[in-house]
Amino acid sequence: MTYRIKEIYFTQQGEGKNTGRDFVFVRFSGCNLWSGKEKNRESAICKFCDTDFYGVNGINGGIYEAKELVKMIKSLWVADTSPISVVLTGGEPLLQLDDELVIELKKEAIYIAVETNGTLKAPEGIDWICMSPKAGTEIKLKAGSEIKVVYPQKNLEPEEFSDLDFKNFFIQPMDSQELEANVAKSIKFCMDNPKWRLSLQTHKILGIR
Ligand code: SF4
Repeated sequence: MTYRIKEIYFTQQGEGKNTGRDFVFVRFSGCNLWSGKEKNRESAICKFCDTDFYGVNGINGGIYEAKELVKMIKSLWVADTSPISVVLTGGEPLLQLDDELVIELKKEAIYIAVETNGTLKAPEGIDWICMSPKAGTEIKLKAGSEIKVVYPQKNLEPEEFSDLDFKNFFIQPMDSQELEANVAKSIKFCMDNPKWRLSLQTHKILGIR
């Protein structure tokens, strides 16, 4: 099995419960809710994506076998902390993530976090699952570590997910021309619904990747 990877880089997580934690980010190419091409955005299921996941041409991007990918992840880990930790993101990583890659990562005791839209089942052995649901989709992932709702979304109410078996519930203002208004709406929602906490895209605020 090979994996199509857009980019791989070391940084700190900017969002959600793991904000500020060191990770190697592996961005998988491709998503099942948008082609990644601007000309298809209006007809996409998910229209507000802020990520370039198209192709394999980013930093350290390419087509990898599992062992090669693990080797690259290890080579980019420059933190003094342990364990080596990886965020598998996209695009939609669960289109490609399989048992073989999880096993190779675990052979090296690498902590595995995944960021997914929740429309696909995940393999066993993932340490942290962050699910960010999108309007108009059927959620297959019913349990995990955190739900992060980009807010507001037309035809999606965060309360739909309040009873799922997740440990942390976050509202994250949608980054758009209405960001200021979206922040205000997100704060109000969290104040009215204390189970939900505010997540900010701190990497954008700080100007880091
Ligand atoms: S599901 Fe995620 S990766 Fe896919 S288009 Fe939407 S925001 Fe982008």
